[in-house]
Amino acid sequence: MHSSITVREVGLRDGLQIHPTFMPTADKLAWIAAEAAAGVREIEVTSYVPPRLIPQFADAAEVTEGALRIPGLTVSALIPNLRGAQRGLELGVHKLNFVMSVSQTHNLKNVRREREDSVADFRAIVALARQQPEGRRPKVCAGLSTALGCSYEGRIAVDDVVRYAVLLAGAGADEIMVADTVGYADPALVRRVFKAVQAEVGHLPIAAHFHDTRGTGLANVSAALDCGITLFDASLAGLGGCPFAPGASGNIVMEDLCFMLESMGLDTGVNLQELIAVRERITQALPDIAMQGALARAGLPRGFAPASAMPAV
Ligand code: ZN
Repeated sequence: MHSSITVREVGLRDGLQIHPTFMPTADKLAWIAAEAAAGVREIEVTSYVPPRLIPQFADAAEVTEGALRIPGLTVSALIPNLRGAQRGLELGVHKLNFVMSVSQTHNLKNVRREREDSVADFRAIVALARQQPEGRRPKVCAGLSTALGCSYEGRIAVDDVVRYAVLLAGAGADEIMVADTVGYADPALVRRVFKAVQAEVGHLPIAAHFHDTRGTGLANVSAALDCGITLFDASLAGLGGCPFAPGASGNIVMEDLCFMLESMGLDTGVNLQELIAVRERITQALPDIAMQGALARAGLPRGFAPASAMPAV
């Protein structure tokens, strides 16, 4: 048996949300279809925010509907609030990704809510989702952003991360996502935070969301793997950035993440050659965005074998 890891593409949301040029809907759908064909089984395709706030997501409905036609793909979307959840339910998305900040300052600036109010919002979202008939009921994921550092507050207390993870789990989350939103984390901190979160809410799937802003992204993945984490967010070509650090790189690079995992014997289900081909298409569709990634520059090493081709241990 090979251990298996789920990698989730978030570039269409996290990557595109700060990109000022609208990516045509057809290009977004081609990206989703090609990456799903390369073996990525879950994609966060958009965000249900009002288009006047983020015009990039004005086509959220078309993108969701198109993605839902791809067999076997889990389609998720970010929801900032109850209204966003309602849109997701109407569209029939598979998973609603709610996010609040562990940092009080960031939560106030980002969603103009006290953290306790965000927990209450999440409770209402879970109640709404549970009213849906079986088969139309999406999974509800609770994300904790700035859990490993905040541009306003700096270090975030591990106890605070655990506190909000417990509150969101108690509110009915199907999954907890822990995010290093601004790329402050290091492997030692990752071990502390993920072990502490897992000790309290380890009955739920826990996902890790890292940004490579300061070059620690894959080292942080390795530390999270040591804690037993098997769900990782990444974006193709490391698309995206950090609104607080102009020019900074974005999420960890999907191709590099899959290469590292496969080399370690951890099966992602992703075909690396096909993934690199998707990247080339995206580069053409987004000529004014800097693409990150070491694997695409260097190519696969001689004799590389994916995890599925390695002898079972
Ligand atoms: Zn992010």
